Amino acid sequence: MGKVYLTGAGPGDIELLTLKAARVIKEADVIIYDRLANPEILQMAKNGCEFIYVGKEDGKHILPQEQINEVIYKSALRYDVVVRLKGGDPFVFGRGGEEGKYLFERGVDFEIIPGITSSISVPAYAGIPVTHRGVSVSFRVVTGHEAPNKEASQIPWENFKTDDTIVFLMGLHNLQQIAQKLIEIGKPKDFPVAVISKGTTPEQKTVVGTLENIYEKARDLPTPALIVVGKVVNLRESLNWFEKSARQNALAYA
Ligand code: SAH
Repeated sequence: MGKVYLTGAGPGDIELLTLKAARVIKEADVIIYDRLANPEILQMAKNGCEFIYVGKEDGKHILPQEQINEVIYKSALRYDVVVRLKGGDPFVFGRGGEEGKYLFERGVDFEIIPGITSSISVPAYAGIPVTHRGVSVSFRVVTGHEAPNKEASQIPWENFKTDDTIVFLMGLHNLQQIAQKLIEIGKPKDFPVAVISKGTTPEQKTVVGTLENIYEKARDLPTPALIVVGKVVNLRESLNWFEKSARQNALAYA
C-alpha cells in the first residue's frame, strides 16, 4: 500500500509552494487535483506521473466527496506515492480532514503538507494585512458559501460587530447578501470592503468599496475571488506593492 500526501498547493504564485510540496510533487506516481489557481505546478511532476482531475466546474464538484475519497484510496492501493493536491491549505475549507479521516479508517498511511492559504496571502498581495496594530487585533476566515439569510445558518453573524477583519472565501455569488447582512447587524454602510480576484497571479484584480456599493462594483469579477471586510482595507493605499509592480512590469514590456 502506498502513502498519501494531502498537500497544499498555495494560492497561485508558484513560488509560494512549500519545498516539501515541491518534493512530493516531483516524486508522485499519481496526482489527484482540484481546479488550481496555477496549473503550472503539475509540470513539475516526473515523466509517467498519472493525473486525475476531481475539481469543481462552475461551483459544482464533478465528483461528490465520497467518490473523491474512494479515488484517493484506490490510488493508494495501486501506487507508492499519491499526492492529493489542493489550492491553498488542505485544512482551510479544503476538506482535507474528511479525506484524512477516510484514509485513517482504511489503514492508509498519510501525511498533511500545509500550504499557504489564500485567506491571508491574497490580501497580502493586495496590500492588505489581516491584522494591524491599532486597526484590527484579530481576523476570521468564514465560508461565504452559505447564504446569510438561510434559516439554519451556522455562521455567528452577531459576533461580527467589532471592527476586526473578516475574510470570506467562496462568497462572490453571495456578495450582495453578505454585505446586506453585515449592515443589518449594525456595521456602518461605508465600512471598507475589498474583493480580490485571481490573487497572487498576473491577473490579480482588486476592487475596493463599501458595504453599500461593493456588490455593484465587484459582482462581475472572475473567480476565484475572496472578500475582505475591515478597516485594514484602507492600508492598501500605502501597501499595494504587487499590483503596482505588475503594472510597472506591463509598462516596461509594452
Ligand atoms: N483551501 C483553500 C480555500 C478553498 S475554498 C485555501 O486555503 O486557500 C476556495 C476559495 O478560496 C475560493 O472560492 C476563493 O474565495 C478563495 N481563493 C482561493 N484561491 C484564490 C485566489 N488565488 N484568489 C482569490 N481567492 C482565492
